[in-house]
Amino acid sequence: MTLIEPAAALGTDPRIRDGRLVPELIRAEFPILGTLNAHGRPLVYLDSASSSQKPLAVIEAMDTYYREYNANVHRGIYEIGERSTAAYEAARRSVARFINAPDHHEVVFTRNATEAINLVAYSWGRRNIAAGDVIVLTEMEHHANLVPWQLLVQEKDGDLEFIPITDDGVLRLDVFEVLLRLKPKLVAFTHVSNTLGTINPVAEMTRMAHAAGALVLVDGAQAVPHVPVDVQAIEADFYVFSGHKMLAPTGSGALWARRELLEAMPPFLAGGEMIREVHLRRSDWNDIPWKFEAGTPDIAAEIDLGVAADYLRALRMGRVREHERELLEYALPALAVAHPELSLYGPMDPAIRGGVIPFNIPGIHPHDVAQVLDRSGIAVRAGHHCTMPLHERLDLAATARASFNVYSTRADVDALIAGIAEVKRVFGV
Ligand code: PLP
Repeated sequence: MTLIEPAAALGTDPRIRDGRLVPELIRAEFPILGTLNAHGRPLVYLDSASSSQKPLAVIEAMDTYYREYNANVHRGIYEIGERSTAAYEAARRSVARFINAPDHHEVVFTRNATEAINLVAYSWGRRNIAAGDVIVLTEMEHHANLVPWQLLVQEKDGDLEFIPITDDGVLRLDVFEVLLRLKPKLVAFTHVSNTLGTINPVAEMTRMAHAAGALVLVDGAQAVPHVPVDVQAIEADFYVFSGHKMLAPTGSGALWARRELLEAMPPFLAGGEMIREVHLRRSDWNDIPWKFEAGTPDIAAEIDLGVAADYLRALRMGRVREHERELLEYALPALAVAHPELSLYGPMDPAIRGGVIPFNIPGIHPHDVAQVLDRSGIAVRAGHHCTMPLHERLDLAATARASFNVYSTRADVDALIAGIAEVKRVFGV
């Protein structure tokens, strides 16, 4: 499963040349990128912010699990049961290493980032938020980091406040400073915006929040696939992410939280696995992290999350970030030169931006843009990208969005530029 790592460490990995990733070789490890669409066009996948493609290592690990050792975890006293438990717990250690968690018991497996945020909102939130308490969010949050907090403050009669953004999609830390005078109990914000690509200064924001006495939840769904994440350096209290955006299967994800927080939190879901002892009228809880993993987990997916984490760790996330930054530096001016009428959104400085490019072609609805691009084999997302308040703030009904991952190349960007020319031709603009 981690065969690639020693080669990378020894400098013999052909996918790394002069300290940089060789995207063509990485691309070759993703079978779907070699396929053709119904019109015989090769797939140009520019929707990785929605969900990433999977490398062979991940696909094969899933296959191996079901062929060779499919069995429930923490139950069977037989060989394949022990093997699946060992692989499941090894994946937890891989994920912990990937985000530099100090203790793998602080990694709770969830189905995705949404479930991880809901876990915190229900378990920590319902015990710690009371009438009049304030939670600070930002105007750029994905609905997954907004709606759970709306439900919580509605129930508890608390309040939400929002860090505003500038017109080019950067958080107003000066206003954040003012909001902190309200002494919020929690500040929750995204590490990287799924819509604008903005990379937020999460360590600085966490320090500011802690100085005001608030706990911090960071939504890392768009960060873990693209930038190095070190939860100890960020010093957040909760860090959440989904596996499917970081090359792992759907149904995998994680919540990392500091041990003392997890130990003090009541269970979220209840049932098998999360208990130590059950009596008819009361039960005792299992240790962390299993206290939060009720029922049979998505074993194969979480094992595979470990494989994906090892795959990315072998490449080094600093190199992944560098590759995507270079691609963004190529794409932003190339798009603006080829199509000067294009509206581009988000910060134009690649130093604070991930590989996400929202755009509009004046006079053409983004859904039509995406549909015509699809005929050329180009997959982009169109709509509100689960950030309706952000679109409202920017006075936009919708946008088309191209987004990169480790396997994206300049050829993808060139295809997009040609695809947009075709869209304009079809609509006569
Ligand atoms: N947070 C951000 C920033 C996202 O981009 C997404 C998904 O797009 C989510 C949370 C929710 O992820 P999931 O649907 O995998 O739970």
